[in-house]
Amino acid sequence: MNGESKMYQDLDRILVNRDEIREKVKELGKRITEDYKGKSPVMVCILKGACMFFTDLIREVDLPLSIDFMAISSYGKATKTSGVVRVLKDLDQDVLGKDVIIVEDIVDTGVTLSYLMEMLVHRGAASLKVAALLDKTARRKVPDLKVDYVCFDIPDAFVVGYGLDFDQKYRNLPDIGVLSPKVYGDA
Ligand code: 5GP
Repeated sequence: MNGESKMYQDLDRILVNRDEIREKVKELGKRITEDYKGKSPVMVCILKGACMFFTDLIREVDLPLSIDFMAISSYGKATKTSGVVRVLKDLDQDVLGKDVIIVEDIVDTGVTLSYLMEMLVHRGAASLKVAALLDKTARRKVPDLKVDYVCFDIPDAFVVGYGLDFDQKYRNLPDIGVLSPKVYGDA
């Protein structure tokens, strides 16, 4: 897919392009490989938004890791969080005593992530870190939330592409762009 796809007409601008993503993901994979030397972490993909980031990232981590998936409620057609987090699909494996790395698409207010972290700590994970593709620090509502690995700090704008959606669309865009407000109106 190239910049001529019709989906690009719904973007105000491209924020992070595919080359920048590839480079950062590679860098992050190296960092995780070094930080977890001698360990076998469980890397948890938060569906659906983190799917592309996750599959690219785990291939850059040179460790005997295992993977698991969790699905939580999304915004649906809205572009702002409701603050209510629902688990739609839980992990298959027990994380008791495991080194867990949550792989998230974007940290916005931080409500979703802090809920997830609390849950996994409660289940007895030996250690817990977070890898996020994007971080909108300006919008944080959970001030003491620590995001260990971040690929890109972005401004307060609603973004789509590379796994991130609006109303389930745009996930297959290879780049990350700011969705034009004319597409979502007052959502
Ligand atoms: P938080 O609980 O941190 O406010 O929200 C995190 C979740 O909201 C993310 O995992 C993602 O699903 C969604 N989200 C937040 N900002 C954006 C955005 O700019 N674009 C898209 N597509 N989803 C977002």
